[in-house]
Amino acid sequence: MAQDYTQSLQLTLGHLYPDQLNLYGDRGNILTLRRRCQLRGIELRVVGLGVGDALAPDEYDMLFIGGGQDKEQAPVAQDLHTMKGIGLWAAIEDDMPVLAVCGGYQLLAHYYRPADGPDMRGLGVFDAWTEHKGAHVARCIGDIAIRWNNMTLVGFENHGGRTYLGTAKPLGIVLKGNGNNAEDRTEGAIYRNTFGTYLHGSLLPKNPHFADYLIELALQRKYGQGSPVGNIVALNGTGTHHTSSSNHATNIYVDTSERAAGSTPAVALRPLLSPLDDSLEWETHASMLERLGLYSEATTVLQKHTS
Ligand code: GLN
Repeated sequence: MAQDYTQSLQLTLGHLYPDQLNLYGDRGNILTLRRRCQLRGIELRVVGLGVGDALAPDEYDMLFIGGGQDKEQAPVAQDLHTMKGIGLWAAIEDDMPVLAVCGGYQLLAHYYRPADGPDMRGLGVFDAWTEHKGAHVARCIGDIAIRWNNMTLVGFENHGGRTYLGTAKPLGIVLKGNGNNAEDRTEGAIYRNTFGTYLHGSLLPKNPHFADYLIELALQRKYGQGSPVGNIVALNGTGTHHTSSSNHATNIYVDTSERAAGSTPAVALRPLLSPLDDSLEWETHASMLERLGLYSEATTVLQKHTS
């Protein structure tokens, strides 16, 4: 009989620069992660890390960095190099899930060239760079929808900087909106389990599948593939598993098969976390797709996720 670990399942999220980088409801991403963990009996502790705070990677299971105006990004860029760079790189190279939105995303690439002032050197996690075309060129503003893993992500974007990918892999392909640069239809970037995106809004409340994906990555990383921990039941790709007698909602399945270990993120979309009633989230998601004229995508979402 598996021991009941639900009470002790705990994740720690480091919220980088909560005072400097928090635009268009970015804090809503944290609230969503905490709530979706809570509904599965998982405690999500949130620690704010401001300018001047060191980042000890072992203390965290996931990290979030929001967006901000050019003037707020400059001291953050400085601090990323003087205080947090080494810890952040260590976390990223160790596959910690990291979500970076807009201004935070730009500072994880090579550099951000603002409309005015000197270049802001980034950490170079993403092989990409960002240049602001100047105040005379229209900003990339409005609702946006992208294709991610054969599904859609929706959000709101507002950025003057245009990001160009070198070898960095995009997070998704733009269906409607501007994305990285309003030219090549790429949006965001991925490096290991670090995700950069221009989707504000905030992103996660309207995209429950992406929120759960980040939580699953953190649980898999912390509680490990193959090491049985309480209600984490190894699903060895043959689909055999057993449920504990206690409340079903806290069962978590981790796919430990070879296929899962070496495969693309699509595998993680198999249900690892117990499903929640996300009908409101999906209706909001579908209404944004509809507003963007993406009717067949909206219909697919409603058919798939709402009864
Ligand atoms: N200041 C950056 C730009 O304008 C990022 C904006 C943001 O985070 N929303 O591109």
